[in-house]
Amino acid sequence: MRVPFYRHSLPASSATLVAQVIESGFLTSGQRCAGVEEQLCAIFGVSHAKLTSSWTQGAVAALLALGIGPGDEVIVPAMTFVATANVVKQVGARPVFVDADPSTLLIDIALAKAAVTPRTKAVIPVHLYGQMVDIPALRAALGPGIRIIEDAAHCFEGRRNGRRPGQDSDAAIFSFYATKNVTCGEGGAVVTNDAELAANLKEAVLHGMSAAAAQRFSGGRYQHWDVARLGTKANLPDLLAVLLEAQLDSVDERLERREILARRYEESLLGTPLGFPTIEAGVVSARHLFPIHVPGGQRDRVMRTLNDQGIGATVNYRSVTELSLYRNDPSVPRNSFPVSFDWGEGTLCLPLFPTLREEEQDYVLNVLLYEVLPSLDSHAIEERGVAAL
Ligand SMILES: *Cc1c(COP(=O)(O)O)cnc(C)c1O
Repeated sequence: MRVPFYRHSLPASSATLVAQVIESGFLTSGQRCAGVEEQLCAIFGVSHAKLTSSWTQGAVAALLALGIGPGDEVIVPAMTFVATANVVKQVGARPVFVDADPSTLLIDIALAKAAVTPRTKAVIPVHLYGQMVDIPALRAALGPGIRIIEDAAHCFEGRRNGRRPGQDSDAAIFSFYATKNVTCGEGGAVVTNDAELAANLKEAVLHGMSAAAAQRFSGGRYQHWDVARLGTKANLPDLLAVLLEAQLDSVDERLERREILARRYEESLLGTPLGFPTIEAGVVSARHLFPIHVPGGQRDRVMRTLNDQGIGATVNYRSVTELSLYRNDPSVPRNSFPVSFDWGEGTLCLPLFPTLREEEQDYVLNVLLYEVLPSLDSHAIEERGVAAL
């Protein structure tokens, strides 16, 4: 059997919506984007939403809109996708890495507090694998002067104690990349309750221009525009926004399916040497990915076994501090992120998507339970167990 890592859930009606945009003659950011932005405000209970061409470009625009740049520091977790740190560098600021909590793999809030300096302007907590960081606790630890920009790329459906991304921070940024829970191939969104940030962001996503294409010809007459502050090009076209329109109504159904599949993995693997992050009380995880930790340096071998059996397992993520760009940077401390390093070396992700069929999941579980587990070197596992103590 072949089980892919991911299969998208775009409804067939998506093609009709794209055809409508083509027929309308207006291809870039216009009414269809505005409609989805309104829906996002309603879903997240926030006052402003801006669709962007990706999480990455949305984050660059948000950092520019907040005036973060050279001389500033931004705290980021080491255990994340590289984009979280790269966007900080792209605006000329310095990413300051902190390690993860060993149980949840989310940013360690005490370490984040300890990393604050007079130059710290912001922190980008990452809702890794779909579990939301405790934003009120992070705010309490850091105090009011530091901006909190949530990396909610994994967390469209997630919540903690009933609160959703964007409600308790300065902004939350989503990704609609091809394999994310909600997708339009490439895309993203920034949501915020901060009216000033929203106004600056509107310009920052269009080079800093004071009027977007839809406004430049409002009333049938050309309007002049100005640029007061540097921006990037980060807007999403209507052509792609309509693909989101078609998914928003069924988000909860897809999450239910993800939850059932994730629990089945958990129940079947509980008590084996394979580990997975703890989901805390009060959290509804978006269940973006299902990571397992393989002990004793045997991850790559297990990955090969799974791949050879037709199972699309992948590695998301290694500690960002181990990538050459950051490892060769003398300002990034060495060997200071043991939890991120260990999970980065030991983790692989199993197939998890709403249309994964039960017999496909059974196949993955059978390979894990009857081929992978008996082949694990128990001596290496014990050694690691002792080392962990
Ligand atoms: C996918 C991802 C991003 C980047 O999203 P893009 O839309 O591809 O720019 C950022 N952070 C995390 C944690 C991600 O998984």
